[in-house]
Amino acid sequence: MVEMAIFIDVSKCTGCRSCQVACKNWNQLKAEQTTNRGTHENPPDLSATTWNRIRFNEGVKDGGMTWLFLNDRCRHCQEPPCMFAAEDVPGAIIKDKTGAVVFTEKTKQLNYDDVRGACPFDIPRRDEKTGQIYKCTMCVDRISNGLKPACVCGCPTGTLNFGPKEEMIKLANKRVEELGGDAALYPGEEYNTFWVLSEAAEKYGLEAKAPVPGRTMFAWNKVLTSWGTLGLAAGFMTYVAKSEGTSGQEKAE
Ligand code: SF4
Ligand code: SF4
Ligand code: SF4
Repeated sequence: MVEMAIFIDVSKCTGCRSCQVACKNWNQLKAEQTTNRGTHENPPDLSATTWNRIRFNEGVKDGGMTWLFLNDRCRHCQEPPCMFAAEDVPGAIIKDKTGAVVFTEKTKQLNYDDVRGACPFDIPRRDEKTGQIYKCTMCVDRISNGLKPACVCGCPTGTLNFGPKEEMIKLANKRVEELGGDAALYPGEEYNTFWVLSEAAEKYGLEAKAPVPGRTMFAWNKVLTSWGTLGLAAGFMTYVAKSEGTSGQEKAE
């Protein structure tokens, strides 16, 4: 099977959130109780039962306010750092031949902080009751049977596109040319889900320079996490040493 990809053309998105509903519907994911936070953006975050979400970013166009919608979800990295963080439990995170990165029931056996921390986009979420970790599956059950992902079928504007990766990249590059200005393919061709952004990435709350996935990124994350832990440990040891010094003085006095 050729590698497949989802291409998201944000310039066509109306923020209708039909994609969110379609995902919940197909994957039988429960709705969440939320509260009014003074924004149309809802729910406020990805979760174990919300695998894609429209981010409502405010922008300025022709002197007036405009929305810059971003459909946030797993990027299906070609070399997924989350998978490298799961190597101790074979079969917990799989790179499928379709290009989809899939979390299985075995993710219950993984360290959640390691998996979430390895993802440069903060996508994985754990079900607190079962311990299983979830995210978008690229509808691997549908695409392996010749169907399009549910969210793509549910999108009424042509924002969400699905097909062989090479075709999707061609379509995306054509759209970049048509839009001109700051339009760009993001985060890059090393992913099986990518966007064409109409404006600079920062305006969508994204990093200006997209991270490049792979073992190097995973290794760096580990080093930084270890440094963070070492820093905390060093801080604690200094605190203990100071406390002991103080009580020593108190005793001497
Ligand atoms: S975006 Fe995050 S969760 Fe998705 S494949 Fe890449 S590292 Fe894994
Ligand atoms: S591809 Fe499937 S699992 Fe992923 S967001 Fe769309 S509907 Fe949900
Ligand atoms: S269904 Fe399509 S147009 Fe509606 S919010 Fe989702 S991506 Fe945007």
